[in-house]
This record gives sequence, C-alpha cells and structure tokens, in this order.
Amino acid sequence: MKYCSSCGARVAFRIPPGDTLPRHVCEHCGTIHYQNPKVVVGALPVWEDKILLCRRAIEPRHGMWTLPAGFMENDETTAQAAARETLEEACARIEVGELYTLIDVPHISQVHIIYRARLLDLDFRAGEESLDVALFTEDEIPWEQIAFRSIAISLRHFFEDRRSGQWSVHTASLAPPPPEWR
Ligand SMILES: [Zn+2]
Repeated sequence: MKYCSSCGARVAFRIPPGDTLPRHVCEHCGTIHYQNPKVVVGALPVWEDKILLCRRAIEPRHGMWTLPAGFMENDETTAQAAARETLEEACARIEVGELYTLIDVPHISQVHIIYRARLLDLDFRAGEESLDVALFTEDEIPWEQIAFRSIAISLRHFFEDRRSGQWSVHTASLAPPPPEWR
C-alpha cells in the first residue's frame, strides 16, 4: 500500500504506539490500515458415491480441478459462502453440512475452510469461473490435476473417513511448498 484509502495521502510503514507489528499508517489522517488473513470457504458436495469438482477457468491453476471454493464476502456466514461459491462456480444447489477441514496457510495469509455438503439435484453446469463441472467417484478423482493442496487434503480425508465411517473435523497447517511445486 502506497496511499491512504481514506484521504489519499502517502502512508508510512511503521509500528504504531502500543502495537507489535509494522502497519501502513497515514500520517495525514491517522488511519491505521490493518491487513489480516483472508478466509477461503468451500464445499465438498456429495451425490451418492460421487464428489462434485470444478475445472478452473481462471488463474491460478487454470485447467486444474478443485472443489467449489472462494474468498468469503463481507456480511455472510462461512456456510453461506460455501453455498454461494458452489452456486457461482458449479450452478449447483447444496445443503451445507458439517464443518470438515480447517487449514491454515500462513505463508500466504489465508485460512481455508471446507464444509461437507449434499448436492440437492443434478442440475449443475460450469459457472463463469469454471471450464467444466463433473461428478467423480474416488477412483476417478484426477489426483495429479487437483489445483490446491488444501483441496487434495480435504478429498483424501473424505474418502478415508467414508471408509472408516468415523467422521471428524480435520485441521492442518501448510508449510510453503518446495520450489519445484511453485
Ligand atoms: Zn489518510
């Protein structure tokens, strides 16, 4: 950030009195522009023994497969965000179920939250940000083409838990990927 979004003056980057971390501080109007992690929310929509995946039409990871997920908006709950993202990316209606995975991704200042969900009907199609939307059994999941680690982790837990019949919330904290994955 270079300029204050409140008054347009140049901002400084310094530790405000009483704080512990440097912030973008406007010397003109006094506004402190805090920057905090972003919340990404998604759904794991289930139909019989299949999972709904979307093939990305946007960067990053264009052409790869993911669960419907995206940045939470202001004035919505995490469950509403999961349903909204599923409607936007897969034009699909779901009943949002239990919280399933909560994954910290500190090196990019994100928190990823995935809910289990029940796909309500088969009337789905690719939304604006998807090239394709399809249902996959465990054997059909394109593991080499999954766009994000948090999504692959959520899918792997799902199939393990379904096999064992023991469902629980899973948490993880992701380290930066090795350079060859970037
Ligand atoms: Zn200002």
